[in-house]
Amino acid sequence: MKTPFVTLPQLQAITQTYPTPFHLYDEAGIRRTARDLKAAFAWNPGFEEYFAVKATPTPAILKILREEGCGVDCSSLTELMLVDKCGFGGQEIMFSSNETPAAEYRLANQLGAIINLDDFTHIDFLRETLGYIPETISCRFNPGGVFRLGASKEGFQVMDTPKDSKYGFTREQLFAGYKKLKAMGVKHFGLHAFLASNTLSNDYYPALAGILFELAVDLEKETGCKITFINLSGGVGIPYRPDQPKNDIFAIGEGVRRAYERILVPAGMGDVAIYTELGRYMLGPNGCLVTKVLHFKHTYKEYVGVDACAANLMRPAMYGAYHHITVMGKEDKPLRHVDDVVGGLCENNDKFAVDRPMPDIDIGDLLVIHDTGAHGFSMGYNYNGRLRSAELLLREDGTVKLIRRAETPEDYFATMVFEQ
Ligand SMILES: *Cc1c(COP(=O)(O)O)cnc(C)c1O
Repeated sequence: MKTPFVTLPQLQAITQTYPTPFHLYDEAGIRRTARDLKAAFAWNPGFEEYFAVKATPTPAILKILREEGCGVDCSSLTELMLVDKCGFGGQEIMFSSNETPAAEYRLANQLGAIINLDDFTHIDFLRETLGYIPETISCRFNPGGVFRLGASKEGFQVMDTPKDSKYGFTREQLFAGYKKLKAMGVKHFGLHAFLASNTLSNDYYPALAGILFELAVDLEKETGCKITFINLSGGVGIPYRPDQPKNDIFAIGEGVRRAYERILVPAGMGDVAIYTELGRYMLGPNGCLVTKVLHFKHTYKEYVGVDACAANLMRPAMYGAYHHITVMGKEDKPLRHVDDVVGGLCENNDKFAVDRPMPDIDIGDLLVIHDTGAHGFSMGYNYNGRLRSAELLLREDGTVKLIRRAETPEDYFATMVFEQ
């Protein structure tokens, strides 16, 4: 059972002012998540979370995270401009991009961001772009092969294929890259890797840490480069389905600590800072998409038509991702139907749910689509002339604040050229 962080009376009041659909965020939940993460890694004095801006690029959200002591991880020019406007600067910004245009490296450097290189050839590209290489540089590692964790009868707890992923240096390129960067004057080195996405396991971060810590020891030994931080990146997941277990961030922090004590400390590297770039874990459960039932349709299947569509939340259409749906006020009713919950795009994959057990629903009912706080609104688009929704913040005192207005037709027309 998944319980929304907002009640039906609250939503009825909110929809008096703000029409559906909209994304709603839970300030208390965001702060609690950030504080727990910090506490779980408090054993590491240099610990820093660089929130992955692409997950939720909304100023009010970034401001809350900033108040909680988080930095930001950007990967594009406009994300850099956004965090600059939100008051982040210097080493509070991580720039983890790929296929990076020169202008983006220039702005990242101008803001004092830590640059995390995705490829060996970007070393020369960065030096040509800036005229020099900054004293702090990070490199992204890709071990290749297949990453597996926790074999059981049902298969592996986590499995991903770094060999098919476009990101990062090979091991050989990393050693060569560090030597080259050192010769160019780099003094502080970082090491980064992202091996698996949305992992539901307390063992992913510790396993990744083990790989990176051993690599860091080898790198320091062979190249003499001083590694100052190791960035475990994103990938800690959330239970989208009601029957999935939640990760325990304290067990995760403890697992990373044990790997640190086992590998880095004996190598004389007990001063290395641990960084994370979590997006989904920080924001996913702390946001939802609220939509209203418009129509029913009975043909070869049963359809519940709502006023949101994949342009507001792309994950189900794009990945077949599960998002739990609560029909507000009908939480205790029997699930007597099997419905597809669909939006209005002229695309048959515009379905928030397929063959989902549902209670009796009435037209006008409010649906909460759970766990849309990360990679939800931010993946929105304008296909079919659909407009992006508003974003609202449920504050800790129970009041609601508009943190992004809904798009209007004027926004849709703004980039069009009508005169010939
Ligand atoms: C997307 C991304 C993240 C965040 O990933 P989550 O799965 O949301 O935790 C972190 N770092 C980089 C480089 C990314 O591309």
